[in-house]
Amino acid sequence: MGSPEDAMTHFALSEDHIAIRDMARTFAEEQLAPHALAWDEAKHFPVEEMRAAAALGMGGVYVREDVGGSGLTRLDAALIFEALASGCPTVSAFISIHNMASWMIDTYGSDEQRRRFLPKLATMEWMASYCLTEANAGSDAAALATKAVRDGDHYVLNGAKQFISGAGATDVYVVMVRTGGEGAGGVSTLVVPKDTPGLSFGANERKMGWNAQPTRSVIFDNARVPVANRLGEEGIGFKIAMAGLDGGRLNIAACSIGGAQAALDKTLAYVNQRKAFGKRLDEFQALQFRIADMATELEAARTFLWRAAAALDRKDGDASRLCAMAKRFGTDIGFEVANQALQLHGGYGYLAEYGVEKIVRDLRVHQILEGTNEIMRVIVARSLIGR
Ligand SMILES: Cc1cc2nc3c(=O)[nH]c(=O)nc-3n(C[C@H](O)[C@H](O)[C@H](O)COP(=O)(O)OP(=O)(O)OC[C@H]3O[C@@H](n4cnc5c(N)ncnc54)[C@H](O)[C@@H]3O)c2cc1C
Repeated sequence: MGSPEDAMTHFALSEDHIAIRDMARTFAEEQLAPHALAWDEAKHFPVEEMRAAAALGMGGVYVREDVGGSGLTRLDAALIFEALASGCPTVSAFISIHNMASWMIDTYGSDEQRRRFLPKLATMEWMASYCLTEANAGSDAAALATKAVRDGDHYVLNGAKQFISGAGATDVYVVMVRTGGEGAGGVSTLVVPKDTPGLSFGANERKMGWNAQPTRSVIFDNARVPVANRLGEEGIGFKIAMAGLDGGRLNIAACSIGGAQAALDKTLAYVNQRKAFGKRLDEFQALQFRIADMATELEAARTFLWRAAAALDRKDGDASRLCAMAKRFGTDIGFEVANQALQLHGGYGYLAEYGVEKIVRDLRVHQILEGTNEIMRVIVARSLIGR
């Protein structure tokens, strides 16, 4: 296991970190990158490849080892998700969401719940979705209205979740529901298996990117869920949801940085070959400077991401603020660098076969989900200015 302290002390990765990153990078090169364009076009959710990633320890990166997890750190995870995203940002991001939901069960679940769900989640025999957003509760997630009413040793659920990644294809739904009064204090978290009567799914959304994973609504119509599936006490569900997102936001930033690095690498190869006005494109100083800036900004985002990840590993008091900052910065820089890469490919950048426009489409949504980048600024400003 890589120690976050090593990296932070020396501003360098340890041998263990490098081994973990290289393992994920090789997997991405061999098993994701060759298929990424075809999966995007076919809207194919690559379950077998994700299970192969899980066999290498990437299905439960920071789930504890007694239930099959890898027991790694958030810094290790940042390295893994950046590396996977260099092959396909969409697949990397789904594996991140699965890890986030699994971590919530590992951290807030009872021993019985951990043993019931996590061994199969760690291998990705079962896949998990995270269900917070609703049609009328996106950024203002604490306004969620999906109701869970106690009936003996069950809850009866009614309502719908919107925009749920993996929905319909996944097996386990970690759902934030209202068991009490208004606001964050009335929210609880339930683990809902796919075969629960009264649970159904909307149509797969047609969307700009992230086509290699489905996005559907999750609908509860008098769905009965055992009280034994509640994580922790009633009323702490919003806290569980936000704790999950701290780490999720780091991973999403890592996915943007990995996708953008792949776009930059493609650009370096392209400008070395393409000629205009009798010169190779990489002989124009204006373009050299643009590439230098792209690489510098990506490196800044990556270094900051590692610092935020190490802070979360240490449970520093300002970790949530740093995670929000790193998410905002990493996803904005990632998108800008990918978009610049498209520009430097000229008209060819706009064609699917060069692989850059897919990266731009995939990275765009990272500025919106797991808390929009405006909400990241709300979190940062609130911590600076106070309420
Ligand atoms: C492809 C995709 C996959 C997703 N996957 C999941 C998932 O797996 N699970 C899940 O729970 N959710 C998921 N989401 C939902 C996502 O997290 C929400 O879309 C996001 O949180 C924004 O909510 P909203 O769409 O309702 O936008 P709104 O909250 O309506 O926001 C609209 C605009 O207003 C801005 N805004 C809102 N409030 C403020 C404010 N106080 N100050 C400044 N600006 C503000 C927003 O930043 C945004 O620009 C996914 C979304 C997409 C597109």
